[in-house]
Amino acid sequence: MDYELTQEQKDIQRAAREFIQGEYDKEKILAWEETHTFPREIWKKACQLGFVGIHFPEEYGGQGYGVTENILIVEEFCRKDSGVGVALSLADFSSEVVLRFGTDEQKKKYLLPVARGEFISGGAYTEPDHGSDITLMATTAARQGDFFVINGTKTFITNGSLADFFVVLCQTDPNMKPSYRGQCTIIVDKGAKGLEATEILPKMGIRMTSTAELSFSDVRVPVSQLLGEENKGFYQVLDFFDESRIEIAAQALGIAQGAFDRTLDYVKQREQFGKKLADFQITQHKLADMATKIEAARLMTYKAAWNYDQKRIDPKLTSMAKMFAARAAVEVADEAIQMHGGYGYMTEYEVERFYRDAKITEIYEGTREIQKNTIASALIGKLR
Ligand SMILES: Cc1cc2nc3c(=O)[nH]c(=O)nc-3n(C[C@H](O)[C@H](O)[C@H](O)COP(=O)(O)OP(=O)(O)OC[C@H]3O[C@@H](n4cnc5c(N)ncnc54)[C@H](O)[C@@H]3O)c2cc1C
Repeated sequence: MDYELTQEQKDIQRAAREFIQGEYDKEKILAWEETHTFPREIWKKACQLGFVGIHFPEEYGGQGYGVTENILIVEEFCRKDSGVGVALSLADFSSEVVLRFGTDEQKKKYLLPVARGEFISGGAYTEPDHGSDITLMATTAARQGDFFVINGTKTFITNGSLADFFVVLCQTDPNMKPSYRGQCTIIVDKGAKGLEATEILPKMGIRMTSTAELSFSDVRVPVSQLLGEENKGFYQVLDFFDESRIEIAAQALGIAQGAFDRTLDYVKQREQFGKKLADFQITQHKLADMATKIEAARLMTYKAAWNYDQKRIDPKLTSMAKMFAARAAVEVADEAIQMHGGYGYMTEYEVERFYRDAKITEIYEGTREIQKNTIASALIGKLR
């Protein structure tokens, strides 16, 4: 057993930390947050330096690293700033579905620009009436000669107003029983005729990302945009979640650590009753509890990533890491506000933003309850 990161992984972690420290301009970030603006200039530089898509193979613009190296970057970015970190982490959202199931041509067409910082990607699974349960999709893709004709509505789609392409889960055979055996994932380009994105505003947190409703009205897409085998879409999305949920756990971990860092600094300098807050035993115990939760979240997240990179795909462990890290982030950020007192409630001190940004990690990519279902199914022995 070896709990150490390799020297190469430590170097990547340090490089990510140094980069994001250097790019951090608090005033600018607060302005982006207020105006719901994607941090495009930081994203561009992050891509140029190879932080986005580091886990893609070299021929598709990456550096051939694994999930572990990718999540080390996500953690560092979210630790420095929850809003910027999540926005950068999600800029290539769902491109892994292309990576895993796309043809060589599709990978070159879509992944190279993602890694270069020319394309932002999105994944459209959720629908107004189908969120946790994606076994039946109301969005249909009907085959007409060499085209699919897509109709339907997707909601809460990250990068919805920004993305250059979307991986869209569609029902291709509505009569298939069970219904999830009649689904496909199809790549749809921005600007396709009949595709409209409507931003959903305002929202609680992650305000530097776009969240939009996508409406598909007779959108014609060549069959060459189909990902992988026909009728395997549902399984492809579940496979993708096995990886992407580890990335969400890393977002949560970084957010928790960032809220903790600010709190530790604060209690060492703030005085009440003639003492530093850090001198009160209750403060010390709170710090100990927060740090313990973060450490446990880190161990689970890194283990899930390591397992994944060893090709020991373990949905149970992934769900455990995602669920635990997300709860830890919400609890740590909540305590961080409490320990800052009234200042914590103010935007300037940032921890309120970490709190608002933490909450989404318990909702997207499967809610806490859905992670529990996955864990329990694996324990009981009837997973998939
Ligand atoms: C900011 C944001 C960004 C998002 N980005 C994307 C994206 O990029 N792409 C995308 O496709 N989706 C995205 N989503 C959607 C997200 O994945 C869904 O909101 C989430 O999966 C829950 O679905 P729902 O909102 O329909 O809630 P519902 O499924 O209606 O769930 C409501 C409640 O019921 C619980 N529940 C549901 N089923 C069960 C069950 N079987 N057992 C116990 N409890 C259950 C849930 O846990 C939840 O507490 C995003 C959402 C948000 C808010």
